[in-house]
Amino acid sequence: MGGDLEKLNPESKTTKKLEEFTCESCGEKYQKEIPLVGGKPLWISRECHACAEKREKEEIAAAELALQEARDKTRNNWRHFCGMPDELLLKTFDNYDRTEKSIKSAYRAASEWAKAFSLDTPRGYPSLLLYSEGPGVGKGHLMAAIVNSILNKWAGDPKKKCPLRFESGPSLVKRIKGTYNLRKGDDIHEREDEVYKALSGVALLLLDDIGKEKASDFTRETYWFIIDERVKSSLPVIISTRLEFDSKELENLMGEDTVDRIYGMVRGIQVNIKGASYRRWKGIP
Ligand SMILES: [Zn+2]
Repeated sequence: MGGDLEKLNPESKTTKKLEEFTCESCGEKYQKEIPLVGGKPLWISRECHACAEKREKEEIAAAELALQEARDKTRNNWRHFCGMPDELLLKTFDNYDRTEKSIKSAYRAASEWAKAFSLDTPRGYPSLLLYSEGPGVGKGHLMAAIVNSILNKWAGDPKKKCPLRFESGPSLVKRIKGTYNLRKGDDIHEREDEVYKALSGVALLLLDDIGKEKASDFTRETYWFIIDERVKSSLPVIISTRLEFDSKELENLMGEDTVDRIYGMVRGIQVNIKGASYRRWKGIP
């Protein structure tokens, strides 16, 4: 320190002197060694060592608390604006009904997937395909549980833009189709590139309930575009569907090449959610 000062200004000679101060926080007298430049103290000490240490600890704790609060707020915003339906907001792994034996393996696959996935380092992570033959077996619940679990453990920069997008397959296709009828100069409605822009590059894309749409060249083009973008950027997608992997229906809806790509993305694993539907277990007609 002193050496640097002397190099900058050879005429200023640095010495040190033990001075006595009164702490402005606790009022106690204390001594501190202060550097002198040209016979004058370089700075004046205002608080004792103990008070300085205590204040620094409090400042670090306050900054940590502020960061936690900012993250909670961001988490909540993301949860509400990622496109997840309201009825799924509170669905977690804890409140997922695992009493049915055949559901357990799907539960395990989904929770293990969520456990190892990080929103901040999503690239190269495998995708997930949830399949069930019938409705009401909790595919949506599992997807929401994944979202809530990865949001709850996320501890990144609270200023980041929302890194995930939850879409229902049929309504996404409908929305994109809707952009085709827009007239020039219509700024009120979402445009096609805006729909895609909202999906592209997100750390995690969830496509719920694929298979309710009517298969057409349009659905095949749309899904090709979306899946191709995920593959190119090495980002995962979670798909839930009632169409089996090797079925003609899924191929017809998404296109053979797209299904092939998904097969690679999920590393050939289709998670089957078998068992009775929620409604039947709970005795609700
Ligand atoms: Zn003090």
